[in-house]
Amino acid sequence: MSHLIPVSAPNLAGRERRYVLDCLDSNWISSRGPYLDRFEKAFAARVGVRHAVAVCNGTCAMHIALLAAGVAPGDEVLVPTLTFIATVNAVAYIGARPVFVDSEPETGNIDPGKIEAAVTKKTKAIVAVHLYGHPCAMDQIAAIARRRRLLLIEDAAEALGGLYKGRAVGSFGKAAAFSFFGNKTITTGEGGMVVTDDERLARRARLLKGQGMTPGRTYFFETLGYNYRMTNIQAAIGLAQLEKLDFYVRRKREIAAAYGRRLNAIQGLSLPVEKKGAFQTYWMYSILVDPERFGRSRDELMALLAEKRIETRRYFYPCHTMPPHRHRTRRRFPVAARLGEQGLNLPSSTALTRPEIERVCAAIASAAR
Ligand SMILES: *Cc1c(COP(=O)(O)O)cnc(C)c1O
Repeated sequence: MSHLIPVSAPNLAGRERRYVLDCLDSNWISSRGPYLDRFEKAFAARVGVRHAVAVCNGTCAMHIALLAAGVAPGDEVLVPTLTFIATVNAVAYIGARPVFVDSEPETGNIDPGKIEAAVTKKTKAIVAVHLYGHPCAMDQIAAIARRRRLLLIEDAAEALGGLYKGRAVGSFGKAAAFSFFGNKTITTGEGGMVVTDDERLARRARLLKGQGMTPGRTYFFETLGYNYRMTNIQAAIGLAQLEKLDFYVRRKREIAAAYGRRLNAIQGLSLPVEKKGAFQTYWMYSILVDPERFGRSRDELMALLAEKRIETRRYFYPCHTMPPHRHRTRRRFPVAARLGEQGLNLPSSTALTRPEIERVCAAIASAAR
């Protein structure tokens, strides 16, 4: 029996062990310590922003980014319906209202041409989610945000290392959120980061992640806060991971090129694109399966691959169809619906080997009819 090829596995080939042992040896294992400062500074420098605030996961990074930017109960926040549920949940945690927008067909990202129709007097913010590693159309989205005086927030959880017209994803919005979950481009096990150029927003984010306690005034809590802190151990892993970010992105792009060469010839598959001006990371190598032309549905293909010990992931269900959110709208989002039905993430670990890519492609080819 051949070995399991996971859809995404962490790659801990750098200085992770050394840095973690340093935490244990120095007794700095909780939510203060030198690695937190180093990770935050190095991360901000990498994204090209002034401030980075480490938090315990990407969902709370999103929650804090929205709160610190000033999103409040009753506000409407435009979100793509095709995203991981955390984007939408973070809006709902605040008591703000997620208002869904359909996707552009080539990337699955929020369609800039469909944003303005969803703007009302109550709209406060637009969340741009860079789906599966492909940067959103930031020129168009930023222009709408400026014209309509809306906050622009980025959910960059899936696109660390991506660029739009040479500028890093995460540096366009008032604030941006990143995730370091185990399957993300870099991981800390669980972890997240809020980034911003705005010093007041960064201070607010620190306050909120630390129970709302006034800096320098022990046990004086000036606002309702949360315990969303990251530990020094997580930051130690994060720093080691960040040191290898360029290598990981290069690997993802090599893997994408290898898949592309092999899958190109198969009828009924749409392969991921890289739009003009975008440098995408191929965080997840994502294809669409047209059931008519491929001869099998996406779900049938997934089942056949699973039999061959190849793990894949379906695309996200559009969030407006999920039980906690489906009461919010009766509109239809045809592009997101189709992508949600046809989309498939193939194994995308940075440690994926040539023979493994060949195994995946051969299995797909043999499933085609
Ligand atoms: C992973 C992810 C998050 C948050 O993830 P956590 O698991 O909470 O770290 C948020 N948004 C998107 C789009 C994601 O993919």
